[in-house]
Amino acid sequence: MPKQDCPLCGSPAGFEIDGFGRRKKFDCPKCKYFHMHTATEKSVMELSKNDRKTLSKRSAQCTNDEAFVISTNGNKAIKGVCENCA
Ligand SMILES: [Zn+2]
Repeated sequence: MPKQDCPLCGSPAGFEIDGFGRRKKFDCPKCKYFHMHTATEKSVMELSKNDRKTLSKRSAQCTNDEAFVISTNGNKAIKGVCENCA
C-alpha cells in the first residue's frame, strides 16, 4: 500500500485509489479508515487545523471499518458521515 501524510492528522497513512481513480481510501493509524473523492482531498487540506482534527476524531470513533466518508457539498462545507450509521 502506498503511503502519504494523512490529510486529516498528518500521520503517515496508507492509501488506495479505487472507483476508477475517483475515490481515495485511507488507512491511518490515528483516524483509522475513511475515504473521499479525490477532488475532496484538496478542500480538506485547506480546512483549519481544528476542523481537520474534528474530522479525524469522528473518523477514529467510527466503528464501521471503511464506511466513514468525507464529502463536500458546495464550496467549503465539508462533512464526515458514516455510511452505515447515517
Ligand atoms: Zn489521520
